This record gives sequence, C-alpha cells and structure tokens, in this order.
Amino acid sequence: MWEIYESKYSELLDKGLLRSQRIIESAQLTKSVVDHQDILMFSSSNYLSISELPTLWDKAIEVSKTYGAGACGSRLTTGNTALHVELEARLAKMTGYESTLLFSSGYMANIGIFSALVTPDTLVFSDEKNHASIIDGLRMSRAQVTVYPHMNLEALETMVGDARRNGHKGPIILVSDYVFSMDGDVLLLEDFVKVGKRWEAITVIDDAHGFGITNMPYTPRPDILMGCLSKAIGSEGAFVASSQLIIHLLQNLGRSYMFSTSCSPFSIAFALSALDYIQEHPELIERLQHNQQYLVQRLASIGFAVQNSSHIVPIPMGSATRAVAMAEKLWEDGIWTTPIRYPAVPEGEAILRITLMAGHTEEQIDELVHSLQRNTEKTL
Ligand SMILES: *Cc1c(COP(=O)(O)O)cnc(C)c1O
Repeated sequence: MWEIYESKYSELLDKGLLRSQRIIESAQLTKSVVDHQDILMFSSSNYLSISELPTLWDKAIEVSKTYGAGACGSRLTTGNTALHVELEARLAKMTGYESTLLFSSGYMANIGIFSALVTPDTLVFSDEKNHASIIDGLRMSRAQVTVYPHMNLEALETMVGDARRNGHKGPIILVSDYVFSMDGDVLLLEDFVKVGKRWEAITVIDDAHGFGITNMPYTPRPDILMGCLSKAIGSEGAFVASSQLIIHLLQNLGRSYMFSTSCSPFSIAFALSALDYIQEHPELIERLQHNQQYLVQRLASIGFAVQNSSHIVPIPMGSATRAVAMAEKLWEDGIWTTPIRYPAVPEGEAILRITLMAGHTEEQIDELVHSLQRNTEKTL
C-alpha cells in the first residue's frame, strides 16, 4: 500500500530535493537564534525590519484585545471585525483604488481572484516565472492559459494581439508578479499596463514582495493588484485592490475568501500600525535600497555578476546540489541563505537566494560576501 510513497520519497532524497525545516527561536532580526545558534539572517521576508518592533506589538495587542485571539468565522459570517473594515479602507486610500478585500494569505488571494473571475471563454496570459499561487489559482479556475517568456512584453503583445486578431471577443487576463519572488526581477509595470489597455485585457499584478516598499499610490494602476501583509509589513494576510465591482464579485465568488476563517484581529491591528510606521519612517526604504546597492557592488567585486533589481538577490548556482552545498558552507559560517531549486525554479537553474532587510549593516553584508568568496572554490 505504501510502496508508491516510499519511492516518491526516495526520489526526492536522491535528487537532493528533500527539504528540511529549521527552527526559529527568536524574532526575525538580522541576528537571529535558529536551531540553538546565533545566525546572520539573509532569508527572511521581514524586509523593513519591523515585524519584531515592540512599539508596534504593544499597540497591536492593545487595539486587538477587545476581539480575542481568533476571528472565529469567515468574513461572511462572524469574522468581519471593525479592524478588518478599517484596514481595507486604509489600503484602498494608500494604493489609490476604489476598494480592497482582505484574504487570509497571498496564496488564497490568488486562488480567489481566478476562481471568481475566469469564465469559460476567458484567455489568460501568465509570465513563465509567476508565483506558484498564481499557477495553482489558474489551474483551479480551469482557465485557458498561455505562458509567455519571462518579462518579455513584446512577445506578450504579439500573443494577445494575435488572439484579438483571430477574433477572440471574450475576456483576456494578463497576470504577472511585480517583484519576482525567486530572482528579484522587477516588471516594467508601465509597459505591462499598456499592453492591457491596447487590447482591452484585464491586468493583474501580484506585488507580494514589493507592497510596503513600492512607492504609493501605484502608477500606472493595474486593474487588479494583490499585495501581501506577510512580507514587508511583517504581519500576515493579503489584500486585493480593484474597482468596487470586482471587489463585490470576489466577495461573492472567491471561494478562498468565502470558505476560510479571516485573519486574526491581532494580525490586522499589527498591519494597521505597521502602515502608519512605514509612512512615518521613509528612511527604512532608503536603508533597504542602500543595502541592495551595496551588496550587488560587493558581489561584483568578487566575480558574481548579479542581474537583479530589488531586495531579493539571486546568485546563480547551476545544479541543485551546488546550491545546497553553498548554503551549507555558509550555514557553517553562521549565515542563513536559501538554496532555491526545482520545482521553484527550472531544473539546472538553481540559485542561492539572498533577501536583504533594512536592518542589515554594511559589516553584516561584508561578512556574507567574505564567506561566499571563501566557499566558492569548495563548492565548484
Ligand atoms: C509569498 C508570495 C505569495 C503568497 O503570499 P502568502 O501570504 O505567503 O500566502 C504570493 N505571491 C508571491 C509572488 C509571493 O512571493
């Protein structure tokens, strides 16, 4: 009965694809305690270093006390607290959209968007490096999907144009990550939105990694925007921003919205405080950008030409085994980076993924670079 699963497991093991989970025993600081050791953190999505701030915690605890720990219902039943409604209004104002809707996670927001909006005659064009949650949302919606080459907007333009020229009258949806989650590439939003306008296609942008860091409000505005509260905002959950019409539909047809308990009042209160804090402290974003420039410059000086343009920095490693070996060597030096391998990236294109935080110092970045340099030959 279990042989099939035993062989699946062995296959993962043999290919070096078996994942293990480390145990975090502190807040996600640049210096964290992980598996009983002090480590230098280069793997967290706490980009603005605010998830652990006591002032934000205290305020969120105070504000959410009234409501208890859990939301105890979906938004359509008893899970719709005044805090959820306040945060939605706040997000609409910040992003420049008519309306927004909270989901319990970014994964669920993407499932909800496509399950609500795809009709039998909808065509979807999706970037080949889009996040797994977009891919899964499209699969569940049974959409007719065409995958286009990564960030190649000329190819996209041709494909969408061909569909219209061939007489497709139904809805067309174009979907892309804004900051790509593995490589850290940033989409040319303006050109993407232009393609949508030219061919009367609906543009959907997943800004999981940029929300909170991207300048607000979004210009130009994609028709539908998804942003996460679980990354730069340091809390959990996500939201979709769009017209009132689309938000009404998501509320009534988005199955991952309808059939799941909403985020805890604490998470929502924390997100509200965090949004205030980010607006009052623009230097956080400046520090993150400085760290990015500094790291890329230092990597270039030791021969790693990184083609990146965000706080997610991918170092190309080739094979999955090499990526894993490098991450292990760095770990021995007390540094946590993440090897990214198939199926998150295509086979043979494994990377070492570094994520920066506003709280990193130049000395900490130097420590990472020195360790990479020392271990490069050992892992070839
Ligand atoms: C992390 C991520 C998500 C999922 O968000 P969660 O809140 O973690 O579920 C969706 N899209 C992209 C691009 C992401 O990186």
